[in-house]
Parts: sequence; C-alpha cells; structure tokens
Amino acid sequence: MKIFEEVKDAKTIGISGHIRPDGDCVGSVMGLYLYLKKVCPEAQVQAMIEKPADIFSCIRGVEEISSDFKPVAEVFDVYIALDAEKSRLGEAEKFFDSAKKKINIDHHISNASGCGDVNYVVPTASSTSELIYDVIEDKSRIDEDIAKALYIGIIHDTGVFQYSNTSPKTLKTAAELISYGFDFPEIIDKTFYEKTYIQNQILGRALLESILFMDGRCIVSMIDKKTMAFYNAVPHDLDGIVSQLRSTKGVECAIFMYQTGNMEYKVSLRSNGVVNVSEVAAFFGGGGHVKAAGVTMQGTFYDIVNNLSAQIEKQLKKTEGN
Ligand code: 5GP
Ligand code: MN
Repeated sequence: MKIFEEVKDAKTIGISGHIRPDGDCVGSVMGLYLYLKKVCPEAQVQAMIEKPADIFSCIRGVEEISSDFKPVAEVFDVYIALDAEKSRLGEAEKFFDSAKKKINIDHHISNASGCGDVNYVVPTASSTSELIYDVIEDKSRIDEDIAKALYIGIIHDTGVFQYSNTSPKTLKTAAELISYGFDFPEIIDKTFYEKTYIQNQILGRALLESILFMDGRCIVSMIDKKTMAFYNAVPHDLDGIVSQLRSTKGVECAIFMYQTGNMEYKVSLRSNGVVNVSEVAAFFGGGGHVKAAGVTMQGTFYDIVNNLSAQIEKQLKKTEGN
C-alpha cells in the first residue's frame, strides 16, 4: 500500500484507532496524521481517538486529537482504521462505516482479512506503527515528530524490542527512525518504564493477591472497582501488570482483569507462546495476538476464571498432544 496514492483525491480524511488507545494506537494515529497533514495540505485531516494517556503528550499535535468525536465532515472521503478492526473503533465506527473509502492498516492476527475497501494487515509485523512507516512512500517528508510518534508505537508493542514480534525489519525501521534525532532514551524511560507511585502500589497489590493454578502454569490477578477508586486509578494505571505476572517462573499463561461494571471485567491475557491467547480471547468475542490478547467478559470473577481456564486447558492439551 502507498498511502498518499490512496488518499490524494480526498478532501476529508479521518483517522482512528481502537478504544483505550495504547502506545501503538496513539503512535500510529499521530504518525500518519502528521504525515498526511504535511502531504495533503488542501485536505481536512482529523484524528479521532479517546484521550491518550498523559505520557503521550510528548508527541507533537496530540492536543489536536478530537476526543469528543465531533467529525469535520458528515461523510468522510476517506476513513482510516489503525491497529484495530472496525468494531473496536468505538464512537468512530460510524464514521468509518459511512466513509466513501475505507482503509484498514493493522497487525492483529484476529483481523487477518481486514475490514476496509483497501487493507494492509500484516500479522507478523511488530506494530501498526511499523506498517505506517512501510506505507509512507516519500520518506523524505518524514520529520522528527513523525519519526518519534512511530518509534513510540514500536517500542510499546515490542516491549522495547523484547517480544518475539521484533524482527530484523522492525530494528531496521527503528534504526531509520532514530536517525531523525529525537531523544530516544528519554522517550523509552518516560513513556514505557516510568511509573507513578500509585501505579507501582497497584502493581504491588496485584502481585500480592495473584493466584497460581493449573500446577503453576497459569496465574491470575484482579483489581476491582473499589480498589480502583481507593487508588483513584484509571485503566491506564494498570498497564504492565499482566506482563509482570507473565514473567513468574513456570507460568505459561497470565490473566489480569479489572472490573469495568457490575459483573463485567476487562481481561488481559499473556502467554509464552504455548497457549495461543488470541484464540482464547476470540472464543469469548475478543482478540489480539498469539502471545497477547484481550477481551471484555461478563460474570463473576470466578465464573470468568473458570471459563478462561477451560479454553486455556484445551490449548495446553492440544500442544501437548502434538
Ligand atoms: P491488552 O491486554 O494490552 O489490552 O491487549 C493485548 C492485545 O489484545 C492488544 O493487541 C489489543 O489490541 C488486543 N485486545 C485487547 N482487548 C481486545 C478486545 O476486546 N478485542 C480484540 N479484538 N482485541 C483486543
Ligand atoms: Mn498494535
């Protein structure tokens, strides 16, 4: 895909990513937004996602994001869905649906066929931000701000080049991006590793209350609404808890969930690859990647753990049978 080629005749271009935007979602949306504003000066380009976490305020133009979801056009000439299939666009799904041309760029295996008129879905890619770098035909128009946004997306989805989705191509892309000269050690520290005191306290609590099961091959922990309120925490404050659970010795699958409503939980799943958590999540209507996936589930904490366990066990048996 060559992105300018796809949008060059458009007067109005909308860009969105998934609900509860993470680093790759914000980075890819902002990288593409800044690039299209530059190469399509005549067009109205609008980025619409939920308000990004404060750590992303270092990305230029992040305050221009329309988090109120008020569109600049009734019907967009082009609407671009990033890092998600359309059902995860939240309030932006209707703008995508009604657009004259729909473009989908994503790397989720659960969205392998894409949901646009034009699709660039590469499940082996580290991140959607890496794919945005691919589709930018005129690399000479990339500047420090665009490079920084895409770099942030890549480091967030690879755990700073740690996860197995990091490929030689990912590193080559990152190498080219850092040549634009932004302060990458500071970005990694401030957007990825740094935690507020509250975030560390909740992490501690989640680890303290975690439970091992299936002979130590699985681990689960949960934060309920009362605890969230006690710490005055927002969902973003819980980022990283599930991967910390996953690094427990012997654990093949980690479950972390936080309560979003009466009998409703947002579930995060991580695995070392033995369990395909994308399939586990997809069974309950969610999705993601083989080693990292998510889903929203209804029921009590125990019901949800039981239901997930059955699917995880099935997967473990399948791999053991081979
Ligand atoms: P997280 O656990 O960090 O929320 O998400 C892990 C991965 O699964 C991310 O790539 C995220 O986009 C995806 N994911 C999380 N929740 C859902 C969901 O409810 N539906 C789908 N399709 N994907 C999800
Ligand atoms: Mn992503």
